[in-house]
Amino acid sequence: ELAQTYRVNRSTIHTAIAELQALGVVMTAHGRGTRVASNSWSTLLSATPDWQRWVHAGEFSANQPTIQTINQREFTTPIRLSTGELGPDLFPRRAVQTAMHQAADQLTTLNYLPALGSLALREALVQRLKTWGVQTTVDNILITSGSLQALQLITAALLKPGTTVYTAAASYLRSLRVLESVQAKWAPLPVDEQGLAYWHIPVSPQPQLLYTVPTFDNPLGTVMTVQRRTDLLTFAQKYQLPIIEDTAYQELWLDQRPPLPLKAHDTQGNVLYLGTVSKDLAPGLRVGWLVGPQAVVARLADVKMQMDYGASTLSQQTLVNLLTAPDYPRTLQRLRDQLRERREAALASLTATLGDLATWNRPAGGFYLWVQLPAKVELPRLFQAALAQGVLANPGTVYGAPTNALRLSYAYATPAEFRRGVTILATLIRQQLSR
Ligand code: PMP
Repeated sequence: ELAQTYRVNRSTIHTAIAELQALGVVMTAHGRGTRVASNSWSTLLSATPDWQRWVHAGEFSANQPTIQTINQREFTTPIRLSTGELGPDLFPRRAVQTAMHQAADQLTTLNYLPALGSLALREALVQRLKTWGVQTTVDNILITSGSLQALQLITAALLKPGTTVYTAAASYLRSLRVLESVQAKWAPLPVDEQGLAYWHIPVSPQPQLLYTVPTFDNPLGTVMTVQRRTDLLTFAQKYQLPIIEDTAYQELWLDQRPPLPLKAHDTQGNVLYLGTVSKDLAPGLRVGWLVGPQAVVARLADVKMQMDYGASTLSQQTLVNLLTAPDYPRTLQRLRDQLRERREAALASLTATLGDLATWNRPAGGFYLWVQLPAKVELPRLFQAALAQGVLANPGTVYGAPTNALRLSYAYATPAEFRRGVTILATLIRQQLSR
């Protein structure tokens, strides 16, 4: 009616009503239509803060537009080749369910926990870390809300503005704005077949900080060799270089157990070790941990208490039960077996669809294929065109990659979805190349 009376488009009317609803000027009640609210004029006349100015005032700048698009479309796009998480059919649902039920029975309160996190969880982690050659104590472990929070705490508590952070030239950290909140400077390092080429780090003035994912890297999928690990640590000890070692994918080996983490060789305390269950159990638990020298752990714990007063008590108790369950090793093994099948199917699909156009790695673990495309392919156009056809695939540019690559994950999409997704990508790439 309104549209006819005022000769405007119907969607304009809908938008206007939605805005008035958001302002509280009109109210919609089920079965009673839309009415003007009784206090509508006072609502309209009260001065609204200038939110546009506020929303850009904080220390975090906006995410890159491509990453914003990925974050939004992740939940609505049918074929998710972008998602670095276990798909619904790989999620160890039974194990998590049992552990959660137990936690609900065990907890006598749901109160806050000590600043370092649940003691039972830290004890369980001391045992788990032993299996990775890391000898530590409950006082050297801080439980965080996912390992991303550990990075945020490091940034907030340890870094001076302008600190130089060395990373692989394409790195997970490139997709995070955490370090930029303290105006840290990125310094990309080349990666060869043995891992990070650390000797490119200038030693004078004293180097500042290195971030690395030595085992099943995100996004490159690479593994640093044992020799490179020990050489890197010798270098770090000589030049007092602190290292953030991110081990998110360590448990997910598909061929053989990977080399021990840097932390296992860390005799001088150079390494801040980050762990998480986000990749091998459930990111929704939002539990990670940091292992480091006591002075650092205590300082970060103090900052965490100021920020959020601790990670979820329920999640931490659930994780205690998961890690100490007798069939936990079998849960992990089953997951590796399933992921291995997916990797093989994904590699076969890539050969069938992109074999003559692109090259890629054969990941020995983790989730990621780094697919190198011909230089002529325009990545932003490919990204948008794929999205329009229901396929989300991350352009390497969001990881700061200097080359023309896509990061594809075989962990979320089923093998059939993966095949459909890369078939669509291959068609779009051929169309671009034939122009
Ligand atoms: N580190 C790496 C290398 C990752 O790939 C991810 C997840 N994409 C994380 C950390 C995030 O872990 P969490 O969920 O524990 O914060």
